[in-house]
Amino acid sequence: MPDKLIRLSKSCLSEAEKNAVMGVLDREFLGMGTEVRQFEEMLTDFFGRPAVCVSTGTAALHLALQAADIGAGDEVLVQTLTYIASFQAISATGATPVPCDVDTDTLCLDWRDAEKRLTSKTKAIMPVHYAGGVGELDEIYAFAKKNSLRVIEDASHAFGTTYKGKKVGGFGDISCFSFDGIKNITSGEGGCVVTDDEKVLQNVRDARLLGVEKDTEKRFSGERSWDFDVTAQGWRYHMSNIMAAIGIEQLKRFSNNAIKRQKIALLYDSYFKDIDVEIIHHNYKNVVPHIYVLQLPDGVDRFLIRDKLRIDGIETGVHFKNNHHLSLYNSAAQRIDKAEKIFETLLSIPLHPDITEQNVWKVIDSIRRLL
Ligand SMILES: *Cc1c(COP(=O)(O)O)cnc(C)c1O
Repeated sequence: MPDKLIRLSKSCLSEAEKNAVMGVLDREFLGMGTEVRQFEEMLTDFFGRPAVCVSTGTAALHLALQAADIGAGDEVLVQTLTYIASFQAISATGATPVPCDVDTDTLCLDWRDAEKRLTSKTKAIMPVHYAGGVGELDEIYAFAKKNSLRVIEDASHAFGTTYKGKKVGGFGDISCFSFDGIKNITSGEGGCVVTDDEKVLQNVRDARLLGVEKDTEKRFSGERSWDFDVTAQGWRYHMSNIMAAIGIEQLKRFSNNAIKRQKIALLYDSYFKDIDVEIIHHNYKNVVPHIYVLQLPDGVDRFLIRDKLRIDGIETGVHFKNNHHLSLYNSAAQRIDKAEKIFETLLSIPLHPDITEQNVWKVIDSIRRLL
């Protein structure tokens, strides 16, 4: 085993994050307060419209759905090729996730397939910005408008991506981001909901604090409510000052890290575009990639390749198992052709800001030899 594993993804932290966390610990105000307010203000500046911070990306999706009045008896269209978080957030509201196929070029939601799965119960659509690209987002919005659906974007992979000159999160209905340890920016764990729908914003602000009305304003001035009313189901989903302190420093360093991610993806592209593997053809001027995904040619044993790369000191991943193959969401009777075929070929290779160019070439070299 080589001594230094090239990791698939990881948190990339500097002294700034460590000092910021120490600052919060020194002030002994760890819960939701000043740092969370500051992080929300910075995110609001970044997106150009209000952001509300929560404890995870999953919580962001859950609260966004709830605030959009999605619940028991409703159906939500979502691509089956996504992290389990998208599906769990939908079922947490009591609604049913309806697995849909993906577009073969982008691995994002195929709205033409989603259209076939519309019923009188369909209330929303959740496009997942797979790997950092957004697919046919304009067409998805047009489809949603035509069918009176809410759009809750799972933008967990797409922090920093722009679409037709607009920042993801800066337009559309509701966008949800994740700041878990390996995403484009991290706050340890964390996430946010971005929208300009005032009702949704207020609902999310309250629901993250157990439904306590207007508790957010109290917490931001170092107080807590006691004489309050609760009118809706809430959750313990707020962000802590420790998390926000990390997020603030990550956001300050984001443009640098975004460029590093883009450069690595471009290096991979320059090699893989000419050989017998499929890649996602992103324009990395606009896309800030969260993962770099290969589709291996037919007949290649993915497990063998993964084992051999591991021996070369290269960690790989598979994003993701199709959710309709999980027991809880099993719709085995339903065929979702493209996603099923694509899943068998997927292999994610190392991508994070700390990978050196030398190591990128090492990954490329190993894969070339193995294929
Ligand atoms: C990371 C991720 C989420 C949210 O994850 P959390 O770990 O809860 O922050 C949601 N959807 C996708 C596709 C993700 O990759």
